[in-house]
Amino acid sequence: MRLILLGPPGAGKGTQAKVLTEKHGIPQLSTGDMLRAAVAAGSEVGKRAKAVMDSGGLVSDEIVNQIVSERIDQADCANGFILDGYPRTVPQAEALSGMLRQKGLRLDGVVNLKVDEEALVRRMESRVRETIAAGGKVRADDNPESFKKRLEEYREKTAPLADYYRGTGELRSVDGMADMKAVTAEIERVLETA
Ligand code: AMP
Repeated sequence: MRLILLGPPGAGKGTQAKVLTEKHGIPQLSTGDMLRAAVAAGSEVGKRAKAVMDSGGLVSDEIVNQIVSERIDQADCANGFILDGYPRTVPQAEALSGMLRQKGLRLDGVVNLKVDEEALVRRMESRVRETIAAGGKVRADDNPESFKKRLEEYREKTAPLADYYRGTGELRSVDGMADMKAVTAEIERVLETA
């Protein structure tokens, strides 16, 4: 199964991706996780990405397209993958389409998690509280200012992807405000009826 999860920051893409990867035995490809790993490793990509990530802006298409293309070529992606946080712009979606064509692969669907944006800030705040309570490390961009910027970037650059994938006939919308298990079940339902 090759799937894209679309939706604003805090919509639950990461959570759903984790559940689906365990069920289907395929990896979650989170460009955010890959970029955070590059920052932590202090690599060239990490150095170029850090400041823009911390502020809530978007890293260049060129960087993310390349890391995704290389990741898809790895052996664990042979049976599929779930893209979480990529593509995030129409040019990225076009680049993805080109790279999949080149690799002889096709998508099974694009799931759009629809959420009430006001609830997202509350979700972000409770995620921060839970992380702190569990003794974990809070993301540098999980603060109200960066989160607002991430939402703005989403509205301006990522939300148009819903129209893009509606146009290709691949878009499936799911209510992302339902409880976690219900959202997973709904994602599987819309993919079966695709
Ligand atoms: P995420 O974990 O998906 O919320 O991503 C965290 C941050 O990484 C974003 O706010 C961006 O700065 C950067 N990022 C992740 N994925 C992408 C992408 N596909 N395009 C550009 N920037 C990205």
